[in-house]
Amino acid sequence: MQIPAPFDYARATTVNDALALLERHPDSRVVAGGHSLLPMMKLRLARPEWLIDINDLYELDFILREGDYLRVGAMTRHTTLLESPEIARLFPIITDAERVIADPIVRNRGTIGGSLCQADPAEDLSTCCVVLRAEAVIRGPGGERTVSMSEFHRGPYETAVAQNEILVEVRFPILPRSGSAYEKVERRVGDWAVVAAGAAVSLAEDGTIDDVAIGLTAAGIDRTITEAEAVLHGKKPTEGLFIEAGRIAAAASDPIADQRGPVDYKRHLADELTRRVLRHACARALEVRHTTTQEG
Ligand SMILES: Cc1cc2nc3c(=O)[nH]c(=O)nc-3n(C[C@H](O)[C@H](O)[C@H](O)COP(=O)(O)OP(=O)(O)OC[C@H]3O[C@@H](n4cnc5c(N)ncnc54)[C@H](O)[C@@H]3O)c2cc1C
Repeated sequence: MQIPAPFDYARATTVNDALALLERHPDSRVVAGGHSLLPMMKLRLARPEWLIDINDLYELDFILREGDYLRVGAMTRHTTLLESPEIARLFPIITDAERVIADPIVRNRGTIGGSLCQADPAEDLSTCCVVLRAEAVIRGPGGERTVSMSEFHRGPYETAVAQNEILVEVRFPILPRSGSAYEKVERRVGDWAVVAAGAAVSLAEDGTIDDVAIGLTAAGIDRTITEAEAVLHGKKPTEGLFIEAGRIAAAASDPIADQRGPVDYKRHLADELTRRVLRHACARALEVRHTTTQEG
């Protein structure tokens, strides 16, 4: 199928207007960039009777620092994230990921909100948000609620956002002396991940690892890998620890064999990419720590 089933269309003018439209039409879906929803509709995997277009909701397109949080509106496009100096400085894992998400055409339209709500197990930004311990702000008829990423993700293609609700914002906690990184292996430029890994690290003043989160994309695991994190906690970063964490992450992964590769190859990638992102995230955190000490 290349043509979607018939549907009606409404263009929301405000978030409240979008919520009222969703309430009025129980078989409706919001459309943001449309880069995941429209292909699903063409394949008849999704058949909403109404599409509620939220592309005029400029109130959801922002990147704002507020205290110890960076607030990112759900309608922020991939390109805006890729080009943001604030994101590159505070959360380089997102910049790393955005460089390898699809192509400029998809990045110009696709949004962070759409990526998270699509909840495809191969979605790169989902791993970044899990690793950065982000929070999702969801608005519905009863008001706003904030959920952690573990509460947000309910499984492949399922999230905590109900039919009559909208994801409005993603909040990222800003930690001192921190660094993060993302690496992905893809079959060709712009493709979805064969496997990818992300890590975020924050260091204590003495240079030991105070907090660490490790995540994998397209490897059958949508939480952080606590078993691998435990070997790093409270220790000075060393190559030996990265190797051990990579081994544990690969063992914890549960990839499936498909056209992108067999299970063994994907486990090998989980191991190697975990080592690399830990190495890179720690180097970035040390750089931030060094700069902060010099400034202090
Ligand atoms: C050729 C191609 C290659 C791609 N490659 C990659 C890749 O390598 N890595 C990667 O991570 N992604 C990739 N993508 C996906 C891309 O990142 C999409 O933009 C993204 O998944 C969805 O964002 P969107 O804004 O287009 O969402 P849409 O398609 O508009 O919506 C997706 C889903 O989310 C819901 N939704 C959207 N916004 C909200 C909201 N604010 N509140 C509640 N529900 C909402 C919609 O109802 C729909 O169910 C690719 C896409 C294409 C077409």
